[in-house]
Amino acid sequence: MEGRTPYQMALEQLNKCAKIMKLDPNVHEMLKYPKRVLTVNVPVRMDDGRIKVFTGYRSQHNDALGPFKGGVRYHPNVSVEEVMALSIWMTWKCSVAGIPLGGGKGGIICDPKKLSPGELERLSRGYFAAIRNIVGPDMDIPAPDVNTGGREMAWFLDEYNKYKGCNNPGVVTGKPLEIGGSLGRTEATGRGLSIVAREAARRLGIDFKKSDVAVQGFGNVGYYSAKFMQEFGCRIVALSDSKGGVYNPNGIDVEALLAYKQKSGKLSGFPGSKEVTNEEVLEVPCDILIPAALENQITKENAGRVKARLVLEGANGPTTPEADEMLFKRGIVVIPDILANAGGVSTSYFEWVQNGQNYYWTYDEVLQKLDKLMTAAFANVWESYKKYNVEMRMAAYICAIERVTAAMKVKGWC
Ligand code: GLU
Repeated sequence: MEGRTPYQMALEQLNKCAKIMKLDPNVHEMLKYPKRVLTVNVPVRMDDGRIKVFTGYRSQHNDALGPFKGGVRYHPNVSVEEVMALSIWMTWKCSVAGIPLGGGKGGIICDPKKLSPGELERLSRGYFAAIRNIVGPDMDIPAPDVNTGGREMAWFLDEYNKYKGCNNPGVVTGKPLEIGGSLGRTEATGRGLSIVAREAARRLGIDFKKSDVAVQGFGNVGYYSAKFMQEFGCRIVALSDSKGGVYNPNGIDVEALLAYKQKSGKLSGFPGSKEVTNEEVLEVPCDILIPAALENQITKENAGRVKARLVLEGANGPTTPEADEMLFKRGIVVIPDILANAGGVSTSYFEWVQNGQNYYWTYDEVLQKLDKLMTAAFANVWESYKKYNVEMRMAAYICAIERVTAAMKVKGWC
C-alpha cells in the first residue's frame, strides 16, 4: 500500500464503500474526480533579487453540501495527486461532521524553512492572487494546514480583499483573532478528538476516566489532545515528538512536559519518565492510542504490537490499510481521521458563520457547540458501524457518502 499514491488510496476507499453501500454508479463516477484542479506558477522575488517560480495547486472536489473547504499546505512533497486526494478526504470530513461545506485542498511545493519571512509573504500573496477567482466566502474557503497558520491566512485575506475591493473576513478561516478569527479555533482539533474519544469509550465499555492514553506527536493536535484528555480525567502515560518520547505508567503532567520541552528543546530526560522512541510510543501498554504526528505510522510491521483497545487518528492517514485490517481482526477499534480530527474544520465552520453574521461567540459557546456537533457526528457513525458491521473507517465513509449523495440527487446532478 505504501507504494500507492494518496489519490489511488482515496479511490480504493471510495470503491470499497461503493460496493458495501451499493452506491449509485453515476454518483460513484462523479465522486472519483475533483470538479476542478487549478495549477498556478507563482513568480516570487527572492531576497537576493532573483525571481524564482513556485508551483501551487487548489483542488475542489465536491460542493454538493456547500462551498469547498480545506487547508493549504506548504511542503516540498506537495503534488497534484496529494492535493486531489486531500480534497476528497475533506469532502468526507465535512460531511461526516454534518457541516454545510464541501471538500477542497491547496498546496505549494516549497520548503518554508528555507524561505525568509519576506519571501514567504510574497509567495503567499502571489499564490492567493493567482487563485482568487475560484475562492471566496461562498465558493471556496481555504484554511491552515501543514506549515501554514494565522499569519498566512492574514496575508491571503488581505490579498483577496485588495483585489476584490471589499472587506470580507469569511474568505479564509484559521485567522488571527484580531481580524475575525474564532475563539477556540487553535485548540479545536485536540478538543474535538477528546470528545470523540469520550463518546467512543462510553460505547465500547472503556472506563474513560480511568483509561491510560499514549500520544504520538506533540504539535498542535498531539498537545491539545493530550491536554484535554488529561482534563477529562485520563492518565497520559506516553508522549513523543519527532525526536523521541517519554513513558511513565504513573502518568505524565502534560503542562509540565510542555514547559520542560520549551526550556530544554526535547522531551527526553523529563523527570520520572523513561525514554522511548517515537515508534515505541505506539506499542506501550495503554487503553487509548492517539497517533497525531504523520501519515503511515501504524503499519503491518507494528500493528501486531499495538496494545491499545481504541485508536484515534489525530493525524491524517496514520494507519496503512493493511494495518487497519490487522487491528480490526484483533478487535481494536480505530476511529478514522475524518471523524477523529474533524474538530478543526468544524470550528472553521463556526468561524465562517461568525464572520457572516458579524457577531462573535464566547470561548464557552464555541466549545459547547463543538461538543454537540462532535457528539452527534460520532453517534451517526456509530449507527452505521452497527448497521453494516464494518470497520469504523468504512462506517464513517458510508455516512459521509450518503449525505453527499443525497445532496447531489436533490440538486439534480445525477
Ligand atoms: N487543514 C485542516 C484539516 O485538514 C482544517 C481545514 C479547515 O479548517 O478548513 O482538517
